[in-house]
Amino acid sequence: MDRIVNLAKRRGFVFPSSEIYGGFRSTWDYGPLGVLLKRNVKEAWWRAMVQNRDDVVGLDAAILMAPKVWEASGHVATFTDPLVDCKNCKERFREDQLPASGACPNCGAKDSFTDARNFNLMFKTYVGPVEDDASVAFLRPETAQGIFVNFASVQTTSRKKPPFGIAQIGKAFRNEITPGNFTFRTRVFEQMELEYFVPPDEGQRWFEYWCEERMRWYLDHGIPSDMLKLRQHDPDELSHYSTGTADIEFLYPWGWGELEGIANRTDFDLTKHGEFSGKDLSYFDQENNRRYVPHVIEPSAGADRGTLAFLLAAYSEEEVRGEKRVLLRLDPRLAPIKVAVLPLSKHEKLSPVARDVAGALRPVFQIDYDEAGAIGRRYRRHDEIGTPYCVTVDFDSLDDKAVTVRERDSMAQERVSIDQLVSYLGDRLPR
Ligand code: ATP
Repeated sequence: MDRIVNLAKRRGFVFPSSEIYGGFRSTWDYGPLGVLLKRNVKEAWWRAMVQNRDDVVGLDAAILMAPKVWEASGHVATFTDPLVDCKNCKERFREDQLPASGACPNCGAKDSFTDARNFNLMFKTYVGPVEDDASVAFLRPETAQGIFVNFASVQTTSRKKPPFGIAQIGKAFRNEITPGNFTFRTRVFEQMELEYFVPPDEGQRWFEYWCEERMRWYLDHGIPSDMLKLRQHDPDELSHYSTGTADIEFLYPWGWGELEGIANRTDFDLTKHGEFSGKDLSYFDQENNRRYVPHVIEPSAGADRGTLAFLLAAYSEEEVRGEKRVLLRLDPRLAPIKVAVLPLSKHEKLSPVARDVAGALRPVFQIDYDEAGAIGRRYRRHDEIGTPYCVTVDFDSLDDKAVTVRERDSMAQERVSIDQLVSYLGDRLPR
């Protein structure tokens, strides 16, 4: 883990937020490479969940919503963690995360905890100029509710019939008591959620379908099967409205932890919003002449946890000719930089040719142009950030109008003519 945190900071993937002020309570900022990696994760999700399907449409709802939404969803009443204080050192902990020994994890005092109190995880704010009870609003703790409240508008405007889904990517906010493990648990994070609406009698079938589909997506994008597992919740872990929940778990350096949750939420959400809003959120199935409230299957993934998992799974070290080579074996679709253009040296004859090559590639691929330092060091820098291909312009290029293309994992090199380069790389860099 330390190696990933260190690499992330040193190479510009992830920085502590507000670092010049000493950081701010487990918040993180994505730097130039991190923003590319995370965008690629989100784009890969969107491609699989929306673009490549004819039964899912997208949505981008506002972060602030009517406070009634959170009453209907149950968040005001039950989105809480039980908290205890240590009477000795005054530190605060989640009761469900205390060690079995009963000793305070901070000061070691025995039996020093207060009774548990429920603490709501939603961030409160005020909308408008007056800070009173009537102007209280919440930052959304999940993107899902934006989908439920737009169900009827999206269904009628898109003319979709169940089974169909609505997908959304966006920020969510939770006042977590114990954030930590780098970007695994933070107070500001991004979710990628699908709410898939189905006829009531098809819930179980679609729940199983989405469990399989989502496992396949992680495997297909480079998470090895021995670092991934699907864990079905025990009946006593289920929310009161859910008839089935499974977590996709990843083997983090500290052990197995949640990457994505998949839940059969039944008709709970649409029924509740129907009751609280007074609007009819049922669906009339003309073919079978029946009216029903659709059931919902929800695969809910974290973009930050996903990005972290892809980084952890890709990190490797190997020995090449007696030297350590650090390598991110990222799937090329996720790699922040696809192609590095490297003139062999900073020579006045090579730079213009290399810049022309870079200019031809730039509209097609995310590239990096780098001419400073020894070529071996530049290769290593790009191995370390997962760049799948390095293109080297050398003195032969001036005559044969060709470049050397080096592949990251095998380090195999191939001579490719400059006018074939875009199609050569295009064949090897799938979208
Ligand atoms: P956990 O049990 O780890 O707190 P959760 O069960 O509360 O997670 P969900 O409400 O199911 O999480 O949210 C769906 C997904 O959103 C999670 O699988 C995770 O990827 C992401 N997520 C939730 N909370 C956080 C957080 N505080 N920081 C980063 N990602 C989060």
